[in-house]
Amino acid sequence: LVDGDGRMAPTIFAEMSVLAGRTGAVNLGQGAPDTPAPAAVREVAKRAIDDGVNQYAPGQGHPALLDAIAGHQQRFYGIDLDPASEILVTTGATEAIASTLLALIKPGDEVVIFEPFYDSYVAMIEMAGGVRRTVPMRAPDFSFGAADVRAAFSDRTAAVIVNNPHNPSGKVFSRDELTLIAGEAARVGAWIISDEVYEHLLFDGATHTPIATIPGAAERTVTISSAGKTFSVTGWKIGWLHAPAPITAAIRAVKQFLTYTSGAPFQPAIAEALSFSDDFFIGEAESLARRRDLLATGLAENAGVDVVTPSAGYFVIADVSSVTSDDALTFCRGLPARCGVVAVPVMALCTPGDEVAERMRALVRFAFCKRTSALESAVSRLKEL
Ligand code: PMP
Ligand code: GLN
Repeated sequence: LVDGDGRMAPTIFAEMSVLAGRTGAVNLGQGAPDTPAPAAVREVAKRAIDDGVNQYAPGQGHPALLDAIAGHQQRFYGIDLDPASEILVTTGATEAIASTLLALIKPGDEVVIFEPFYDSYVAMIEMAGGVRRTVPMRAPDFSFGAADVRAAFSDRTAAVIVNNPHNPSGKVFSRDELTLIAGEAARVGAWIISDEVYEHLLFDGATHTPIATIPGAAERTVTISSAGKTFSVTGWKIGWLHAPAPITAAIRAVKQFLTYTSGAPFQPAIAEALSFSDDFFIGEAESLARRRDLLATGLAENAGVDVVTPSAGYFVIADVSSVTSDDALTFCRGLPARCGVVAVPVMALCTPGDEVAERMRALVRFAFCKRTSALESAVSRLKEL
């Protein structure tokens, strides 16, 4: 992530989006929908702008949004929150991750993460001066060993980051897995940071269990989510977190100096969206599941590669070893020229050169949060693979 001169490198998502822009390839790289946000949500944001909601929002978040987040957590998970002290609105989940790690980690502290990992965890652990300890996941089901989890935790562990549902794999952690992780965190006195941005994008009857609902976990858990994925508004950058009041206050103190506050007119719009009926959430997931199937079937039939069909999230993972001997990074850099499609190598979400990166060297992540026409075009181009 950081080069020899201490400069941060562009993320794999930025690199691949630039490549898509330059080549005109279908961009199945970055996990950003190309579908419109729900009209009702756009209307509320437009009205807020016209009504003058254009200055700094309250630092903790717009009161209507704080109430809506509390209402959402109660309605879907039975979690009771005090909107006045236990919730913080952030500039996307990205800022929630950043401000949480900066608040909770001191130089030399260890942070446990599961590999492959979302890239901002590693960057922010480094910026906070922490040291990462990884638990390796295994393809194709992205399972992990209980012994590896136990071995990663020690009295040096300050926090564990759980990404459930998981990017890039779409794995939904089981209650037993969450109980094991929560138990280890309690044993060594570590914080649990739970990134749940894909909480509503669940397929084939999968259900989401926030780790904060595992007995004993809530008191040590920071739960993070985002409007970007659930409402197809990744560009609005409205995220949030909830945690016990003193922790929320500590994270808010850091947020003041990162962004101070987050996008004012978008906050009442997301408050409205969080109160949509269950039909909305179910309908979005069903639409996404149909697009997942289109892409997964197309990859298997047209490109002849093995595909893991995920039970959550935005991505299918294909094993391209039957069509190339290159590693996935080289393969993805050449994919626009080869067949006009952009995708992301899973090894870019691993520690370069380590055992997990090596085992996942042929895995490629394709995003299906795209219009059916874009997916059909990609699938037909993949015949050239
Ligand atoms: N966490 C995960 C696992 C993600 O995939 C993403 C990408 N959207 C984020 C966090 C960042 O979310 P946001 O766009 O709300 O900052
Ligand atoms: N979360 C998105 C993904 O995994 C990308 C967000 C970003 O570009 N940082 O593709």
